[in-house]
Formats: sequence, C-alpha cells, structure tokens
Amino acid sequence: MRALLRPVADPSSYLALIYSVARLPLALFYLVVLGLAFSLVFTFVGLPLFILFLFVIWWAVIFERELGAWWFGFELRPMSVAASAGRPWLERLVAFLTNPVAWKSLGFALLEIPAGLMIGIGFLAGLSLAVGLGAAPFLYTAGALTAQPGDPPFNAFGLSDTPFTLPLLILAAAIGLAVGVGLLHAARAVVLMHSVLTRAMLGVSEAQLNLKAAQQEAAVEHHRAERSEQERRQLIVNMGHEIRTPIASIRGHAESLLAAEGEPTAEEVRRYLDVIHRESERLGALVDDLLVVARGEAGELRLDLRAVEVGPIIQDVVAALGPIAQRDREIKLVAQLPETALPQAWADRDRLTQVLMNLVRNGITYTPRGGIVSVSAAAAEDHVEIAVADTGVGIAPEDMARIFDRFYRTDESRSRATGGFGLGLGISRDLVEAMSGEIRVESEVGLGSRFTVRLRRMPAEGRA
Ligand code: ADP
Repeated sequence: MRALLRPVADPSSYLALIYSVARLPLALFYLVVLGLAFSLVFTFVGLPLFILFLFVIWWAVIFERELGAWWFGFELRPMSVAASAGRPWLERLVAFLTNPVAWKSLGFALLEIPAGLMIGIGFLAGLSLAVGLGAAPFLYTAGALTAQPGDPPFNAFGLSDTPFTLPLLILAAAIGLAVGVGLLHAARAVVLMHSVLTRAMLGVSEAQLNLKAAQQEAAVEHHRAERSEQERRQLIVNMGHEIRTPIASIRGHAESLLAAEGEPTAEEVRRYLDVIHRESERLGALVDDLLVVARGEAGELRLDLRAVEVGPIIQDVVAALGPIAQRDREIKLVAQLPETALPQAWADRDRLTQVLMNLVRNGITYTPRGGIVSVSAAAAEDHVEIAVADTGVGIAPEDMARIFDRFYRTDESRSRATGGFGLGLGISRDLVEAMSGEIRVESEVGLGSRFTVRLRRMPAEGRA
C-alpha cells in the first residue's frame, strides 16, 4: 500500500505529470512541422525547406533531451561526435545530414505524434476525471451551503438529497483520488519510457563514441610523436651549437701552438694545454649527457645498481673539479663528510658521479668569483642524502618548477655565456629516479642554491 502511494509524496511525480501532459502540444507541434515538411518536399523549394524542418526537429528534440536531463536526470550521450563550431557552413550541413542522430530525431518525432497524442489526451481526460470526482463532495457542500431559502431543492450532479447522497459522494472522491494516484504512476512510466527512448534515439551510439575516443587518442599520440620529433630536431640543432664552441676553441689553441713561430715557452704551452684540457672535459661531459638522453629514449638506459660508498665518490668529484674551480673562478669547492663512516647507498657508481659532476659544475658556473660550493653527505633513518650547495645567484621561484625540464635555462643569455646546455638537471633527475632516489632543490635569489640527492640507504649487513 505504501509503495502504491509513494508517488504522491514525491515532487518528481508531479513534474512527470506535467511532462506527460506536455506530450500533447509537443505531438501537435511535431505533427505540424512534419506535415509541412512532408507535404512540401515534393514542391520545387521542398528540399531546402525539408532540411530547415529537420533543423527545427533537431532543436526541438534537443529541448526534450535537456528537459529530461534537467527534471529527471536522463543519461544523455552527445547528439554528435564532431565539433562543428568554426567550420564552413557547407561542411557543417554535410556533417548534420550524415549524422545518423539527425535522422533518428526525425524518427523520434514521427513516433511522438501518435504516442504523444494518445498520452497527452489520455492524461488530460484522466486528470479531468480525477479532479471532477475528487472535487464532487466540495462542490456539493458549497452548493448546499449557498442555497437560499425558497430555492428549489438542491440537486447537484443529478443527485437529489437521498440517503445515498453521502456514500455516493465519498465513493466519487475515493475514485477520483485513485485515478489521480494511478495517473502519477502512469506519468512515471511515461518518463521511464522516454528516458529509454531518448537514450536510444537522441544520442550517438556507443560504437560512435568509442570510435571518436579512439580517434582523439590517436590524434594525441600523433601530436606527442610530432613533439618528440621536434624535440629531437631541437636537440640536434642545440648539440651542433654546443659542440662547435669547444671544438673551435680546442682547434684554435692547438693550431696556435703548432703555428707558433719559434719555440713557445713552457708557460705558454701550459696555458694553451689548459684551455684544450678544459674544453675537452666539457665536450666529454656533453657527450656523456647526450648518451644518457639517447639511451633513455631508446629504453636502453641500464644502471649497474649496487651498494656503493658515497664518501669516495664525493671526494673524487671534488678532487676533479676543485682545482679548476679555484683557478678559473676563484671558487672554493669543499667536501663535508661526517667523521663516522656513512652507510652505503643504493646507486650506480658512475651515474652518481655524473649527477654530482653536473650539480657541482652548475654550482661553480652559477656562483660569482670568490664564492663557495660545498658537497656534503649525511645519513638518515632510511636514506643517504648528498647535498650540493653554493653561494651563487640562486633560482627565482617561478623557475624552480622548470629547471629540471630538458633545455630549460633560466636566463638564456647568461646561460649561453656559461656554455650550459640545459640538459644537466633533467638528466640528473632521470638518473637519480632510476636509482629509486629523488632530487630536490631549495634556493634563494642572491643567496645561493642547494640541490639534495636522496638515495636509498643499505642495511648494515649489506655492507661489503
Ligand atoms: P645548464 O646546462 O644550462 O646548466 P641545467 O639543466 O644543468 O642546464 O640547468 C638548467 C638551468 O637551471 C640553468 O640554465 C640555470 O639557469 C639553472 N641552474 C642550475 N643550477 C643552478 C645553480 N646551482 N644556481 C643557479 N641556477 C642554476
């Protein structure tokens, strides 16, 4: 009984009632539009008019869809899969006419004419009956109360005042109520039927949607492939530029030495060889970085991961770059290692060296003369942390998120003068992540930067 009366307390039932009654004007509308469309199709202006009416139907069914979605939460699929905005009108027209949904809308409207007429008229009749019967007792009472003395005996609905009047009036009201409740149930059924019909006829099919999704995915992949191709081309262009500078410098100094008239002094030879040495170092680092990029892209970057001592690696890096830093930039490069032995870290020895070389080289490059660059290491509960800190120019907050991107350089003109390539940090991050570690940066403009490499710490028994 409760289930039977549930629609009475549900506001959406009344919306469903309005929706059902509204079938009648909509059916009449479709009747007029389609009547005109089909009767004019054989005249000489018939075809354009037919298309025009097809448009009218299209917008009318869109209204129906949206109303259903708004009032009753119909699940809707789009009416078309291709975005038409911005395309020439002829292309849009062809797309419209070849969209199966446009023709299904026509089918929907055709179906709606008999169905809507029947539903609308049925509901109007039902409602009149329910309201008339339900209101009978009130009308009777009102009539009786307003009767003046001397009026003929009150005889509403043809019922004279007999002993049956009251039970008949109660029975009428009960039937009216029952018809009303029945109509609410029927209205809900109408809505349900329309939700199924709307989904089936007024939207693209699942297959069309899937096809569109696949096409979009393919377009994204295509775009990605193009971008990566462009990056590769960019890499080659940049590489050309970057490699030429040190090679030109090496060649120039070597030629000067060879072409020197008379015997060059030992001091001269040393000066020239220094430049040649430094430039070949730079070239070597560049090639190492490029190899990492190439292997990474080919999926062939294999790391020799094992437990390694980080102390000696730090000392090697400082020993290799310290003298150059001091001589060329008057920068002090220091290693700060704890007194007690550090635990071993999970890493590839050569790759970790490459990462630290990159970080220290950056530290030296972006620190003014007389500054300090330090490399320190410390152990924590589950990791070993290596920090490369400098007293340099620092990195602006807006650049922080991007400095690890390939080819990103915060100040193109300054970086170009320093001979950087914009690859070092990106590669360093790839390498550290391949060692299951992470790399972070903290920096303050004008004060300096601190890059921290965090590696997994090996348990004590894992020590060699
Ligand atoms: P580059 O070859 O240009 O040094 P990197 O990938 O190593 O390329 O660094 C990217 C950019 O990050 C650099 O161009 C520089 O602007 C900035 N950067 C890197 N390290 C530092 C640092 N220690 N201090 C200030 N800026 C830095």
